[in-house]
Amino acid sequence: MDNRTEPIAPGVWRLEIATLTNAYVVARDAVGDTDGLILVDAGTRAAPPRLVRSIRLLGLDPRAVDEVVCTHWHADHAGGATRLALGPSAPSLAALSPDAEVIAGTAEPAAGRRTLLARALAGVGRRPAPAPTTALADGARLDGGLVVVAAPGHTAGHAALWLPERGALLAGDAVFTTPWVWTGPRALTADLDAVPATLARLAALAPGVVGPGHGPPLRRRATERLEALAERAARRVR
Ligand SMILES: [Zn+2]
Repeated sequence: MDNRTEPIAPGVWRLEIATLTNAYVVARDAVGDTDGLILVDAGTRAAPPRLVRSIRLLGLDPRAVDEVVCTHWHADHAGGATRLALGPSAPSLAALSPDAEVIAGTAEPAAGRRTLLARALAGVGRRPAPAPTTALADGARLDGGLVVVAAPGHTAGHAALWLPERGALLAGDAVFTTPWVWTGPRALTADLDAVPATLARLAALAPGVVGPGHGPPLRRRATERLEALAERAARRVR
């Protein structure tokens, strides 16, 4: 089993923890694990052992992970997160509302599009095992310099995490880069009308690098490519 990892910005690493599925480790001090590590997304329920191995391969201590932030409630992002939160290391868990409440098990996901395709894409829309989750607000700034940016569309409470000092945007499933740069399967997008404004908002941050939930990072002309994606999405909705 390969444990592919790569740095995308100072103290920010992409961990490919399942085929085409990413989690990110963020060092609060932008260097190592001295001030603790934040995980952004944690794959499915099956991901934690591989996640721990990947963090070790980076020369970091997995026990330094004391906080997990989920970009949204889908099981391929929050499943591993709630498993970690309920396990012995018990990092804190946080997400944007209303996805935080879905992960906590205190609210139902907004009735989205329930198509055959959505069901066929399997597991993704299944709810993770519930675990206590702190509800973050849009614009909240976490220790380590992560800023919560509301990015609804894929889910109602989808968030991107922005590291302004490091120029890195962890976009969750607002942007897919596999098999090309797009906004992901429409069948899995809860609110298509919200997508253009979300993309415009993310492009306006002018990130130097974008780390998506699925696929390789966007390193070259990341802002221009987000702008183009926003324009395309706006034309489609109109
Ligand atoms: Zn996903």
